[in-house]
Amino acid sequence: MLQDLRQIVQDVGAAPSFKAALDTIVSRVRTTLGTEVCSVYVVNRDTGDFHFAANVGSRSAAVGRVVISPGEGLVGLVAERAEPINLDDAPQHPNFVHLPEIGDEDFHAFLGVPIIHHRRVLGVLIVRQRESRKFDEEEEAFLVTLSAQLAAVVAHAEASGDIRELSERLPGPQDTRFTGIAGSPGIGIGRAVVVHPAANLERVPDKEAENVTVELVLFDRAIAQVRRDIHDVGRKLEATLAPEERALFDAYLHMLDDDALAEEVRERIRHGQWAQGALRQVILEHTRAFERMEDSYLRERAADVRELGQRVLAYLQDMRRRRTQFPDDTILVGDELSAAMLGEIPMDRLQGIVSLRGSSNSHVAILARALDIPAVMGAVDVSLYGVENRQLIVDGFYGSVVANPSRPVVDHYTALMEEEREFAEELEELRDLPCVTRDGQRIALWVNIGLVGEITRSLDRGAEGIGLFRTEVPFMTEDRFPTEEEQRAIYREHMAAFEPRPVTMRTLDIGGDKALSYFPISEDNPFLGWRGIRVTLDHPEIFISQVRAMVKANAGLEGILRIMLPMVSSLFEVREAVGLVERAHREVVEEGYDVKRPQIGVMIEVPSAVYQARQIARLVDFLAVGSNDLTQYMLAVDRNNAHVAQLYWEIHPAVLQAMREVAKAAHAEGKGIGICGELAGTPEGAVLCVAMGYDVLSMNATHLPKVKWVIRQVSLRDCRRILAKALRMVDAHEIRDLLRAELMEAGLGRVVPHHEVPAAV
Ligand code: PEP
Ligand code: MG
Repeated sequence: MLQDLRQIVQDVGAAPSFKAALDTIVSRVRTTLGTEVCSVYVVNRDTGDFHFAANVGSRSAAVGRVVISPGEGLVGLVAERAEPINLDDAPQHPNFVHLPEIGDEDFHAFLGVPIIHHRRVLGVLIVRQRESRKFDEEEEAFLVTLSAQLAAVVAHAEASGDIRELSERLPGPQDTRFTGIAGSPGIGIGRAVVVHPAANLERVPDKEAENVTVELVLFDRAIAQVRRDIHDVGRKLEATLAPEERALFDAYLHMLDDDALAEEVRERIRHGQWAQGALRQVILEHTRAFERMEDSYLRERAADVRELGQRVLAYLQDMRRRRTQFPDDTILVGDELSAAMLGEIPMDRLQGIVSLRGSSNSHVAILARALDIPAVMGAVDVSLYGVENRQLIVDGFYGSVVANPSRPVVDHYTALMEEEREFAEELEELRDLPCVTRDGQRIALWVNIGLVGEITRSLDRGAEGIGLFRTEVPFMTEDRFPTEEEQRAIYREHMAAFEPRPVTMRTLDIGGDKALSYFPISEDNPFLGWRGIRVTLDHPEIFISQVRAMVKANAGLEGILRIMLPMVSSLFEVREAVGLVERAHREVVEEGYDVKRPQIGVMIEVPSAVYQARQIARLVDFLAVGSNDLTQYMLAVDRNNAHVAQLYWEIHPAVLQAMREVAKAAHAEGKGIGICGELAGTPEGAVLCVAMGYDVLSMNATHLPKVKWVIRQVSLRDCRRILAKALRMVDAHEIRDLLRAELMEAGLGRVVPHHEVPAAV
């Protein structure tokens, strides 16, 4: 049954519309369980009514026309109890309500399971049979498992308004609002351009071809490319392969012949399917046919067909990506957007970002903030194909997206954009003023940097230094490790631009969600795996060459070079890394460079380092809290996972206490303490950090002016009073409300998101 289950989920995922997905569910469940009837009811969010949405095996004409009130009948009971109900004689049940349009009185066996998403019942999935019998445990377990997997599909349809199309009684989908996570503040209005990572063949959806001729041309080009690749590989291996192994390449080529797979795909394109969808259909049909064969040799051929299909798909996707046009008001939408995808778009055309996965501390959200582009992350219910080319509003303050906005909604958001623009202009006047509280406490405001092109933006906003240079970003945009000289040139450019300000270079922090295409790390649990200092200590050649590049880049400059170590979890690592930095420095001096010894610091972003902060501080020159990871590891909440994003709180009382302890530990050893996690760039977080005694707040350049504006209008005393209150609180929501209320009371409400979010339709 597992195989059936997977197949159903896969087919439902690839269905071209919600209606088609529901029809697939009911017909496939009926065949798999061998029941007579299968139906789905979905809930109307506004009224709580259940709509008869799909049916097979009885009077399907009633689909779209029957509505059941909340709590009514057996459907209502399943929803109310939020658990399966399995009856051998349904009409005898006291809750049974006879619905003549459906003809349910003829069916005795009844099994209904709720469809639940994030604790809400969104629908009910039902199977019925004429004979009087109880469905067995296995059947019940199958339906429960299936329904849990389908819940996301229904949730998506609910959010996107597709559910409305199932019933004529509801209005059309304008102002459809999707809720996600606030990724980067600001409002963006524009047209959705959907980008896809190299997808798995199985996940390609059906879609109508916009232009059949173009799809045919693209397909033929992809086939030609794959033929060429196979020829090339075959030729290269000619000498090493036995003739029967070489025959495999001929077999591949034959499959691509006009009278084989390729023609079948073309036929489907001619019938209106886009090339990728047609390819998926044909390849999967053939692989399934092979998989069902008795002969094990032939069964193995399924893998060959799939591999071939994947190759053709890769070219189709690549050609499509290159043909993608980005209008001047592009809202980039993708399943899981990456830094590299952002890099493909001219920045002046990018008005907003919507990522279905990820959360506010995913690296793509951090980049969006650095670029000052509004972003919504974890918008899981947005349909990639449904929003393509549609007008979207991205509300990066509240993490919501409005599709097909009405005129009043557009006007509302346009006014907000204008307000923000005026505020940003006012903030420009603060550029050269010091960041000092009303009672004279000086705070250093530095920037987090990593993207090329951030230098000017940072200096324009009054950055007093670089508090975090994410060196992995230049590594990520190459197709091999950059050489020492290439690294030196990039680092030098930044140090020279910031001279004589201090520059903090973090050693390579790959792993987790930061992958290098040319150095793949595959792990079940990447955030707890080979990441940051763990990788570079295992590869001293990479570490030393990076440190040498940093030290050389600082030659002859006044600005202090600070080298910072990420993901430290034990003192061993610190000792070893400090030894390597000193060695690299010695080498560079011996080579005749005029260089100072760099300061060395450790990022405190793993709970063990919090408890050993004092011992660590003794070994180095400074500490800097990485609150993004510290929060993730303290709360055991993946910073990238939209499903648990509501549990990710940098102002969780436990995180705040840890941060306070780290600040005390650094000061007790007479060492500087900074913070370079995203918390520092929020007005609320900055107030708390000032109170805790952080000397340096490092943030993205976009947020710097607002933070300076706030700090210049509060006193250290106020900050301490607010911190004391916050630390008496037990949960993060309370602390957030307190901080916002305090900012409002101090007349700083302009930095608190306060606009009304137009209600969901
Ligand atoms: C952090 O973890 O807070 C941090 C600044 O580093 P990164 O976000 O690059 O992991
Ligand atoms: Mg980190």
